[in-house]
Amino acid sequence: MTATHEEFRQRVREFLAANAVARTEPPLEWTEEMQVAGCRRFHGALSDAGLGGITYPVEYGGQGLDKGYLEVYTQELSNYRVPLVPAAISHGMCLPVINDFGTPEQREHYQARIIRCDDIWCQMFSEPGAGSDVASLSTRAVRDGDEWVINGQKVWTSGAHYCDYGLVVVRTDPTQPKHRGLSMFIVDLSLPGVDIRPLRQPTGGSNFNEVYLTDVRVGHDCLVGGEGEGWNVAVAMLMYERFAIGASGSQAMTGRTGIAQLIEEAQRRGRSSDPVIRDALAGLYIRERIQTFIGMRIREAAEAGRSPGAEASIAKLNTAMLARQAADLGIAIAGLQGQAWYCTDKDGSQWANGVVSSPGMGIAGGTNEVQRNIIGERVLGLPKEPDPYKGQPWEAVPRS
Ligand SMILES: Cc1cc2nc3c(=O)[nH]c(=O)nc-3n(C[C@H](O)[C@H](O)[C@H](O)COP(=O)(O)OP(=O)(O)OC[C@H]3O[C@@H](n4cnc5c(N)ncnc54)[C@H](O)[C@@H]3O)c2cc1C
Repeated sequence: MTATHEEFRQRVREFLAANAVARTEPPLEWTEEMQVAGCRRFHGALSDAGLGGITYPVEYGGQGLDKGYLEVYTQELSNYRVPLVPAAISHGMCLPVINDFGTPEQREHYQARIIRCDDIWCQMFSEPGAGSDVASLSTRAVRDGDEWVINGQKVWTSGAHYCDYGLVVVRTDPTQPKHRGLSMFIVDLSLPGVDIRPLRQPTGGSNFNEVYLTDVRVGHDCLVGGEGEGWNVAVAMLMYERFAIGASGSQAMTGRTGIAQLIEEAQRRGRSSDPVIRDALAGLYIRERIQTFIGMRIREAAEAGRSPGAEASIAKLNTAMLARQAADLGIAIAGLQGQAWYCTDKDGSQWANGVVSSPGMGIAGGTNEVQRNIIGERVLGLPKEPDPYKGQPWEAVPRS
């Protein structure tokens, strides 16, 4: 760290002390609405203090600093509780896509607002008939003069109910093979024809949505990366997602359940001398350390300007397994009280929530099976999955 990095650390510390809650304080009991408002407030203040969008260009609302400064910021941030989740996709996936693929006008118009969380964006890829094989999607956009008219349905859209914009992948040319006829558009979610319907999850929350798009008209200037380039942009976006999940290291554990908390819980409940629990804690600790090292490797690759490639899939897979292992261990330590807790125990539901929500991490951003396919093909050199319709126009491929 240079002196300048250390000066920066001091500024970050002062900002966080004034604008965030220290991790040593009890967790905040915030509703989603409060988290979204808190997230917007925090990022607005961060930008006002000259600390927003650290690695992004100054002319587009960032600070134009190198990744070392981001590392300093992330280190300091880990000591605080900040409601960052509502903007995780907006900042982790949509912002880098606009930065890398947006036209100068799009960057000028949107980038600073995304950084400040004046606008929060979501990712609209999955459809009822296209998840793992997202390139087979069927939402259509048809050109009409200077506009495109979009029709179709997206699903599992995290955060759409509080977001302002979505990056939507659609089919613009059905006569091309599935990967080639796709394009990506910026869609203002307040436009007529956008119908957002929240889905209820087993945890009781509603973080996902179905989004119906009926005759939604967007300008040609909303096209990102050019017509027919949607797949390339989508692949870059998925890589950012795996990178964001994988590079977060051991912090990617389920919710608040870190190894330290599990050890504390085992001690509190008199389970820390149980050899089965001790063995599971040691196994989790080892996987967590591995995750930290994979995260470091990915961040170093990114800092050196190399694309993390299949490493991001390894990290994403390990994170999903880590989350599941932590949740299983949490409920094992909590025993019956993890399943039926006293209503006075404010944290009582966390173990059951972990069990119900952690499998989602093995699905979001590409399932564990899909990551294993990528690792098999790109790392182990196994043959590619057979595709009997390879190279055929999308419209000629049978779909259920
Ligand atoms: C927490 C969470 C957040 C999400 N957020 C978003 C979002 O914001 N935006 C968005 O667009 N989507 C989002 N998704 C959707 C997610 O991207 C899809 O659920 C995922 O890609 C899997 O697609 P699917 O659900 O259609 O399952 P399918 O693709 O139908 O898969 C079903 C099963 O078959 C297996 N399978 C499929 N193909 C293969 C194969 N080739 N080889 C081996 N096994 C295979 C899968 O692993 C899975 O077990 C989210 C999902 C979750 C859980």
